[in-house]
Amino acid sequence: MSTESTLKIIFGGAAHRRSSGYGWRIHPVKKTKKFHYGVDYACGKVPVYALESGTVYKRGYQAGGAGNYVYVKYPRLGVAVAYFHLTSIAVKQGQSVGRGTRIGVAGTTGGSTGVHLHIGVRNLSTWKWQNPETWLANYSAPSSNGSSGYRVGSTYTLRTNMNVRTGPGTNYAKKKRSALTVNARAHCTSASSAVLKKGTRVTCKATHTVGSDIWLQIPSGWVCARKSGKIYIS
Ligand SMILES: [Zn+2]
Repeated sequence: MSTESTLKIIFGGAAHRRSSGYGWRIHPVKKTKKFHYGVDYACGKVPVYALESGTVYKRGYQAGGAGNYVYVKYPRLGVAVAYFHLTSIAVKQGQSVGRGTRIGVAGTTGGSTGVHLHIGVRNLSTWKWQNPETWLANYSAPSSNGSSGYRVGSTYTLRTNMNVRTGPGTNYAKKKRSALTVNARAHCTSASSAVLKKGTRVTCKATHTVGSDIWLQIPSGWVCARKSGKIYIS
């Protein structure tokens, strides 16, 4: 993919402009020569998103530096991607994310002179910073599942009756009807089952890929969206 296509995923299509690259520069706040371990994109206070299946490794706040920050580990890619200076953070530590999961809202917290997103990339095994500009230009989405098209916050329809599970995969337990939301219970196939009826509308809270299968998190738990090439939710 091109740098712009990768950034389109991260910014969800919102406008952004490269304002500072990776390498030596005069620090905008400290006014001294410092190495810049990332790339900055000036933007509005817009939501920023995960690229593909991964896990939130760390979130926190660093005064005078990263501000509100999030690190997302992408095992397939062998890197962790850092999002710095966020206005707000929308994910929890340890949370699974997928393409389109909202990480937070870009901002100007910490050592920053204006609203922008600082993107940093670290090697998962050495934890060394990499040049994110090279990385963004070379990012290649997983062929079969990462470009699932399922978006967090969007509503989809079940094409078949479907079990709700406790996690994203068939190795997770099927939920009991009593463990579903009141709203979901109204859409079960019977008074005793925890199976949602074909045609039920569900809101995607997160996506998760297992091999080439795609799972959606909905308010009641997890449902299978795509498995072995078959589409169950659209
Ligand atoms: Zn920066």
